[in-house]
Amino acid sequence: MITATKERYDLAIVGGGVFGLWAARAAVKAGLSCVLIEKGRIGAGSSGGVVGVLMPHVPERWNGKKAFQFAALDGLSSDIARLEAETGLETGYRRSGRLIPIVTEDRLAHARAREAEAKTLWKGGAAPYAFKVLEASPFAGWPIADAAPFGIIQDTLAAHLRPRGILKALRAAIASRCRIMEGALFQRFDEAAGEVVLANGSLLAERVVIASGVEAFELIQGMTGQTIGRGEKGQAVLLKGKLPAGLPLVYDDGVYVVPHDDGTVAVGSTSERVWTDIDAHEADLAPLLAKAKQLCPALEGMEVGEMWAGIRPRANKRDPVLGLLPGRTKTYIAAGGFKIGFGIAHRLAVALIEEITGADRTIDVPETFRPAAHFASLVA
Ligand SMILES: Cc1cc2nc3c(=O)[nH]c(=O)nc-3n(C[C@H](O)[C@H](O)[C@H](O)COP(=O)(O)OP(=O)(O)OC[C@H]3O[C@@H](n4cnc5c(N)ncnc54)[C@H](O)[C@@H]3O)c2cc1C
Repeated sequence: MITATKERYDLAIVGGGVFGLWAARAAVKAGLSCVLIEKGRIGAGSSGGVVGVLMPHVPERWNGKKAFQFAALDGLSSDIARLEAETGLETGYRRSGRLIPIVTEDRLAHARAREAEAKTLWKGGAAPYAFKVLEASPFAGWPIADAAPFGIIQDTLAAHLRPRGILKALRAAIASRCRIMEGALFQRFDEAAGEVVLANGSLLAERVVIASGVEAFELIQGMTGQTIGRGEKGQAVLLKGKLPAGLPLVYDDGVYVVPHDDGTVAVGSTSERVWTDIDAHEADLAPLLAKAKQLCPALEGMEVGEMWAGIRPRANKRDPVLGLLPGRTKTYIAAGGFKIGFGIAHRLAVALIEEITGADRTIDVPETFRPAAHFASLVA
């Protein structure tokens, strides 16, 4: 009689979004055998959209989270350069900088104070970054002068990428060393038996990382009895056309205008705490688009290429959550990227794999990202 032997891995990662893929890349680099379990297809969740802004915090009231994000944004350019060189794929990454119109005298005074603080707080990176106040945009009409009556902030740290570009490159980078299972719904992990139970079978793993976006919160609820996060819907538009190359992204009052080098422009994003369905709607996107066109009239006449919606994973404490689950010894969580997932996932991934392998720590994870900060009390 032949007995089927179950596949066995050092690490099973649940979720084929930006968190799961970067975790898989860090795992294979650390020499772990690895399987990535995705219930749909890679990029089916909130990472598979059209806007990938990599935005820094304002340089003020510095704390561990801001320092972590600064280091992550600073280091991402070299991580992406390596990824692109290895795979031959372009991610659309560009450190384009960001322009933010100043609309009141108070905000001008505030921006001037931040300009001074950035000189100290945004120091120590691979490149010198600035947060400066200018009288007007250096790019004629981008944004329109009327939008910036008190001047404009230019920061040189902000960047952007194409979400589907980075997912494709990450997938290609891990494909030969990590099994990718699409259409595989994770159900539970029996730590004692090392069994990972899927809807259509099972496999064995030493450890499991739950990186299943907003659905991580449901899985964790089932394991710990605590609800530490929820979803927030977001919608965005991709416009097709041709703008001059090299424009920075523009941010004003919740609206991002993100010019890509391939001529498309992403406009994002709405934020809805309550929604009735998960699709994108023209009615919700029309005001966003109108505001973007008012801000940057060069968008007039561009065609809508795609409308897109996703559910962002948002931890109740707002910060991401990373590390060993309370009451478990082999189950980890990496979730809660909310609006900054693309800028920090690579650094969180390395920190998590160092924790899992017991390697020397090279990255300090803020205490506010740790499970202890997210759960009401630790299960004994
Ligand atoms: C409109 C919009 C705009 C955004 N703009 C930006 C931006 O400009 N910059 C930025 O940094 N971030 C942005 N984000 C947020 C960013 O998308 C998230 O932080 C990030 O995508 C979270 O990635 P994730 O890997 O945790 O989750 P996801 O990308 O949601 O991936 C989770 C995956 O897990 C899978 N899954 C779920 N349950 C299971 C299961 N039981 N078994 C197997 N697989 C499962 C899902 O199918 C999914 O593919 C935006 C989000 C939205 C919606």
